[in-house]
Amino acid sequence: MSRREQYLEALGIDLWRSRDANPWQRLQAQVRACSRCELAHGRTQTVFGVGDTKAELLVIGEAPGAEEDRQGEPFVGRAGQLLNSMLRAMGNPRESVYIANVLKCRPPGNRDPKPEEVANCRPYLQRQVELLRPRLMLAVGRIAAQNLLETDTPIGRLRGQVHRFGTEGTPLIVTYHPAYLLRSPGEKRKAWVDLKFARHELARLRAAGERSRPIVAAG
Ligand code: URA
Repeated sequence: MSRREQYLEALGIDLWRSRDANPWQRLQAQVRACSRCELAHGRTQTVFGVGDTKAELLVIGEAPGAEEDRQGEPFVGRAGQLLNSMLRAMGNPRESVYIANVLKCRPPGNRDPKPEEVANCRPYLQRQVELLRPRLMLAVGRIAAQNLLETDTPIGRLRGQVHRFGTEGTPLIVTYHPAYLLRSPGEKRKAWVDLKFARHELARLRAAGERSRPIVAAG
């Protein structure tokens, strides 16, 4: 231990630092242990999120499906394959972004999330946003978009605008869910318009050096 570290430890600062050495791991452990709602009883495992923790783009879906619940990773089923293609086409391949869901546990039978489940899970997502500080969020699907923006405006009217998420006011763009696009391939053209819009906005934010404000981790 260096003299500086010894000094900090004597002041009790080392304890604070080591507790926050990896806030992502800490948060993931909290999610893994979560039993705030009934979904905790039905899950195989929590699905925390995956990707580059320095990513400039945060993709948010609705909730894990059966395959995600089995593998513990978001968007690994058929919809995930399509999402990967969408991200690649946009110039932000899966490994370069961070992907998570509004809910960290699978709702039974893939039903829509209940408002109280979303409310219980929101602090985890909010913390992920604080840690990641993405330049841009991409909400995929009506359920994700409406819950993130706390609105019941139809997805068709949420598309094509830059919204703001959470206390950071992180820019957020909405597009269709890949599972919907698999059912309605005729809508892929509109999704591509959204992705080009997101790509353009991301480039603009990058050029402006905009990234949501850092938050000092609470102890
Ligand atoms: N659909 C979602 O919204 N999220 C997933 O992780 C998988 C499918």
